[in-house]
Amino acid sequence: AGRHAGTRSSTARSEELAARAGRVIPGGVNSPVRAFASVGGAPRFLVSGRGAYVTDADGNEYTDLVAAWGPALLGHAHPAVIDAVKSAAERGLGFGASVPAEAELAEEIISRVPAVERLRLVSTGTEATMTAIRLARGATGRPLLVKFAGHYHGHSDGLLAEAGSGLATLSLPGSAGVTEATAAQTLVLPYNDLPALEAAFTEHGERIAAIIAEAAAANMGVLPPEPGFTRSMIELAHRHGALVILDEVLTGFRAGPSGYLGVLGDELRGDGTGDPVAPDLLTFGKVVGGGLPLAAVGGRADLMDLLAPLGPVYQAGTLSGNPVALAAGLTTLRHADAAAYSRIAAAADAIAGAVSSALDGAGVPHRVQRAGTLFSVLFGEFAAAPRGYAEVQRQETVRYRAFFHAMLDQGVNLPPSAFEAWFVTAAHDDAAVERIVAALPGAARAAAR
Ligand code: PLP
Repeated sequence: AGRHAGTRSSTARSEELAARAGRVIPGGVNSPVRAFASVGGAPRFLVSGRGAYVTDADGNEYTDLVAAWGPALLGHAHPAVIDAVKSAAERGLGFGASVPAEAELAEEIISRVPAVERLRLVSTGTEATMTAIRLARGATGRPLLVKFAGHYHGHSDGLLAEAGSGLATLSLPGSAGVTEATAAQTLVLPYNDLPALEAAFTEHGERIAAIIAEAAAANMGVLPPEPGFTRSMIELAHRHGALVILDEVLTGFRAGPSGYLGVLGDELRGDGTGDPVAPDLLTFGKVVGGGLPLAAVGGRADLMDLLAPLGPVYQAGTLSGNPVALAAGLTTLRHADAAAYSRIAAAADAIAGAVSSALDGAGVPHRVQRAGTLFSVLFGEFAAAPRGYAEVQRQETVRYRAFFHAMLDQGVNLPPSAFEAWFVTAAHDDAAVERIVAALPGAARAAAR
């Protein structure tokens, strides 16, 4: 182990494992994007990770820019997180009864995000958004949900319309198995398009329960809200008696210490004369579980208290508030201090800057997209910053394919899709950044062809 993947490293063992998995697991994977469908080639089976590095089944080491799709904020197998998980596990894997750490995690999140007054823990981001939507419908008595094209909120039926990411990778508009009746409850609108939102409210305002939006879109590549959009969206919804669900599953405690809501900060205060606006409900996942299955829905106390057992909106979970997952999440958040975020920001700046120079050097047209410490790279000519899904879908994914494989061959693990954010961790020190930077010129030349 520890062999840095040089050009032409062996992938024999990964290929054997993929063939074996393919005989018993649909597509050989338990989440579609892992299958390398859009980039081609053999998916690497990973067997260990430490800090900024992961190792595959053939013993090749990669500098990682996936970070488990976000949760590994501190890097893989952070010693404090592993110790906390071990000691929680030794006390029992879960009891189906309340444990002290549940309120501790809720307090930690509430202290970072003032818009959260109460929090309920679930196990996945999908459950968090499902619960937020049920709450919004329960609170307003209205049926419709507005979502934006290219935003991903998990795989529940009503949310799979134009959902970016995995669907974009596979070029699917939605999913089979979703009834027309369910799909008709979701209005899909272009992102960053206030007139379209106003028109929807003019036509359906009385029937819209909520708008759900990623705090900054990061599942069609990174695409932040335009200045003022989030504030206007919240004001518009509230004028019509609808709620806003801000989905921070990906951005939460990653785009910055208080998520993307914290990055927006003053913007939500508008010109300073009015009251700041706030989303009504927020969803969290990924980083809050520190790598184990844990997610959360939070928001205004009067809304959250509509949940059972206090109120009429039902929600439950055998594994909710699992003590081992809580240990990973709490320890991760407690170590996610100012130093960790400034390390992540510095590494993101260095990598994003180096990607851009390498691509410029090879004459590859591109755009680096940023939202807080999140970034991604769009390949192709973009005269202006893209505003929504229709524009980013025009990117040259064949270039990403070549770029991705050239990076992988040189020992850098990028997301296997052009529609994903690149995830940096607090363990990306100068040595890790240097390994990534060294691989870029070759990958840029591959993308130029
Ligand atoms: N919301 C957003 C913004 C996400 O990025 C994701 C997952 O990538 C989800 C919801 C769904 O979370 P999970 O995969 O844990 O169900």
